Amino acid sequence: MLDAEFFRRWMTATAAAVDREATRLTELDSPIGDADHGSNLRRGFTAVAAALEKEAPATPGAVLVLAGRQLISTVGGASGPLYGTLLRRTGKELGEATEVSEEQLATALRAGVAAVAKLGGAVAGDKTMIDALEPAVAALDTSFPAAARAAADGAEATVPLIARKGRASYLGERSIGHQDPGATSSALLMAALAEAAS
Ligand code: ADP
Ligand code: MG
Ligand code: MG
Repeated sequence: MLDAEFFRRWMTATAAAVDREATRLTELDSPIGDADHGSNLRRGFTAVAAALEKEAPATPGAVLVLAGRQLISTVGGASGPLYGTLLRRTGKELGEATEVSEEQLATALRAGVAAVAKLGGAVAGDKTMIDALEPAVAALDTSFPAAARAAADGAEATVPLIARKGRASYLGERSIGHQDPGATSSALLMAALAEAAS
């Protein structure tokens, strides 16, 4: 079973990974965006880690809802509301339980990813974070490491795609040949989940 401490570790590991990879995320956002994805997410997850330390929520759901709220209020950019929605919706699905099973987390994350797709209007193949998140939640029934691998593969598979959503879509065919920054950060989120479970 997974308790609030597990979810806090997941968020802290994500904050550390985003901090480590911020330069790379911003570099990926340079040719097909506005070169701020790393700094956006670093600001957001730094706030998440600080809020979790201060408030120490008692349930898995409350950890994710607090994290999502922090992202929405601190990240100015498309990714803030999208990641905020992912975590908030997943947290709400988990309800008030003090411990949840891996199956419950998989089901909740699927609802979270569906909420992101609805908010952003993106489908698989549009060269967005959805291209990492959807294969990851599909692989969650296997294991957390399998989900992390699926997310990383999904992020790499965005390279040949034409962007159909977000800033990168303004470039049309010129978006081909570049990996999507949001799919790349989604792979970090899923790798951090596997790390928290190990
Ligand atoms: P901004 O584009 O506002 O500067 P960021 O650079 O932080 O925001 O985030 C860009 C990432 O957000 C993209 O790489 C993409 O993965 C994701 N994204 C943008 N628009 C959408 C959308 N409509 N649906 C899903 N993901 C999106
Ligand atoms: Mg950007
Ligand atoms: Mg921006």
